[in-house]
Amino acid sequence: MTAARPGRFTARTVRVKAPGKVNVSLDVGPLRPDGYHSVASVYLAVSLYEEVAATSTETPGITVSISPDSTLDLDAVDIPLDGNNLAYKAAAIMADVSEHATGVHLEITKRVPVAGGMGGGSADAAATLLACDALWNSGLSREELAHLAAELGADVPFSLLGGTAVGLGLGDKLSPALAKAQTHWVLVTADYGLSTPEVYRTLDRLREAEGVEAAEPTGVDPQILTALRGGDAEALSRVLVNDLQRASIELAPSLRDTLGIGESHGAIAGIVSGSGPTVALLADDSVAAEALAEALQRYGLSALAVHGPVPGARIVSDTLI
Ligand code: ATP
Repeated sequence: MTAARPGRFTARTVRVKAPGKVNVSLDVGPLRPDGYHSVASVYLAVSLYEEVAATSTETPGITVSISPDSTLDLDAVDIPLDGNNLAYKAAAIMADVSEHATGVHLEITKRVPVAGGMGGGSADAAATLLACDALWNSGLSREELAHLAAELGADVPFSLLGGTAVGLGLGDKLSPALAKAQTHWVLVTADYGLSTPEVYRTLDRLREAEGVEAAEPTGVDPQILTALRGGDAEALSRVLVNDLQRASIELAPSLRDTLGIGESHGAIAGIVSGSGPTVALLADDSVAAEALAEALQRYGLSALAVHGPVPGARIVSDTLI
């Protein structure tokens, strides 16, 4: 941080980036009496980042804008800029627990598809927690921030943590999996979103129609963690699982075609990411991932090569203006 100029309000901007995620595995339990579902999931943070620039303002309150540097088609998505925005909620929670909170403007650079099943809003919330913590010198520990993150949403703690982790409960009870080897993926994004609650409701409906009683998930398949630890894409391709996938396909049948096109163009496996509609295609290595992304782009699909694990939310700059 550079020195403040005396005699006038000096705004400070803390810029934080936070990754989107892919669920390498997602087991979903039955509908609970509280309306939620217990899950067991392996989360992988991937190299597609949201960025939040939090700038202190002389006037109190929280404002939100979306940066023109965003790589999404902002006309096609519906992002609330009021108290319903997850970044706004994160700043409000931080203001409550910080002694020296000021007004704050949050400028979000969106790169993770909206309602795409990659936790984009959650990444914005995680980035905002960290940015406001620094901006207001709150000095919260990572554990305290993780606690606040869990209040904001089940996927927020993971975007703060990053890497590879097993998530239980609502997905917020995280254990880092210490898998550092890289795997390479191609994300195929859709020009529409799927509502996460609607995908869960569809799964419940499908299960009820089949008379299937889902079991409470207790843990994840250890083979997934072994494959991730070794960066063994071939072994990983055999154990990818997403219980929500068939519900996402029920709501968006073209996802089946996307998975098929991916596999016929060199992906060794494919999976709908979380509640979808983003599809994550697994490639042998970075060269294969780039080639696959190019092939799918020629096909008219929106495809992007990424890798993971990558670190969780981190400060990229801290400047006085
Ligand atoms: P998850 O995988 O965690 O279920 P997602 O990636 O599918 O989430 P998001 O992009 O996080 O979905 O957003 C879902 C909805 O939340 C959007 O349709 C939007 O109305 C609302 N929303 C609130 N805050 C944000 C934000 N900062 N960015 C994008 N959408 C937001």
